[in-house]
Amino acid sequence: MKKLNWGLVGGGKGSQIGDAHRIGAAMDNCFELVAGALDIDAAKGRKYATSLGISKDRAYADWQSMLDGETTREDGIRLVTVATPNATHFEITKAFLEKGIHVLCEKPLTMTVKEATTLHALAKKKNCLLAVNFGYTGYPMVRQARAMVRSGKLGKIRLVSAQFAHGHHGDASDMDNPRVRWRYDPQQAGVSSVLADCGIHALQMATYICDQQVNELSAHFLSAVEGRELEDDAALTLNFSAGTTCRLWTSAIAVGHMHGLSIEIFGEKGGLQWHQEQPNQLYHTPLNKPTQILERGSSALHKDARLSSRIAIGHPEGMMPAFANIYRDIRAAIDGDTAAEDRLPLSNHGVEMVKVVQQAAKSAKAGGRWVKL
Ligand code: NAD
Repeated sequence: MKKLNWGLVGGGKGSQIGDAHRIGAAMDNCFELVAGALDIDAAKGRKYATSLGISKDRAYADWQSMLDGETTREDGIRLVTVATPNATHFEITKAFLEKGIHVLCEKPLTMTVKEATTLHALAKKKNCLLAVNFGYTGYPMVRQARAMVRSGKLGKIRLVSAQFAHGHHGDASDMDNPRVRWRYDPQQAGVSSVLADCGIHALQMATYICDQQVNELSAHFLSAVEGRELEDDAALTLNFSAGTTCRLWTSAIAVGHMHGLSIEIFGEKGGLQWHQEQPNQLYHTPLNKPTQILERGSSALHKDARLSSRIAIGHPEGMMPAFANIYRDIRAAIDGDTAAEDRLPLSNHGVEMVKVVQQAAKSAKAGGRWVKL
């Protein structure tokens, strides 16, 4: 398979998510990093890009010159990843889509619903793939859970409990850190901090596994640390399209919680539990029967889980291989594989999660009033 030329915007040295993209995209030889505008500081970004093996003429000072440069070359990039702070996603993604370049955009897709729907429509018009990096859906056991729910093994799903509650912003001591500051600045983060940053991962996973959309929600926000305008904790109740109730808790002040992403699915015929910090195990409890532990790497799993699993059974497999699964599916989807496309978090998920963030902020302002999506 010939590698496709790939570019990265953001994800500079020391960023939280840049390495995971580079390593994930490289894992299956589907893409080659040939162009980058990696940092808001042009000199730093160019230096880092060349240290990664990007040629000098494709280590760009900013994304605009990258777009110009890449669209005037015969061997220009076919996919770009946008891994910059949230407020920049719309402008950058739109510009690349307009030139017919496929995009993997970091979550949240945009700051407003109008922007998100504009990108969704533009991608369709340009016949481009627009994926949104809800990368945890690349974990094998998340895909196993989805296959089990789809097969009817759990019966009708009554309740989902989803959590993404960490404890790393429990005080304001690191608010001078630029990686933290933008997350609580409404100019850069929009109407929500921890829900838009973390909670939507857990919620998107719930909708992905259950194959349902969000119909309505009620939200309560808390800004616990003094001086924070945006919420650092949120609790939502959401009603899904096929009658499932979802309870979501997301937090940045849950001191003692580490990453804190987990999901529990309760159906008429059984329950499932998955915890991202122990990603190799999916707990399945058939109604009135003992709990079974399904292990990643087992040949008894659904093919989507087997396909997504890379390391021998019993070895820890984590986030970067999960991102690699997203990149491999993007490549396969670009090449026309509809099963791979079905496994991906695409712009419809991105649009829905932007709606959730906006409506949750509205609901929270109105004391938890139910609002429709
Ligand atoms: P960060 O602050 O750690 O890094 C941002 C990087 O983007 C920095 O290198 C910065 O210099 C660069 N940058 C900023 N503006 C730029 C611009 N205009 N052009 C080029 N580069 C620019 O942020 P982060 O935590 O890496 O988050 C980046 C994005 O990734 C956010 O949208 C965030 O929500 C998302 N994210 C996703 C996951 C996930 O699991 N999918 C995890 C963490 C962050």
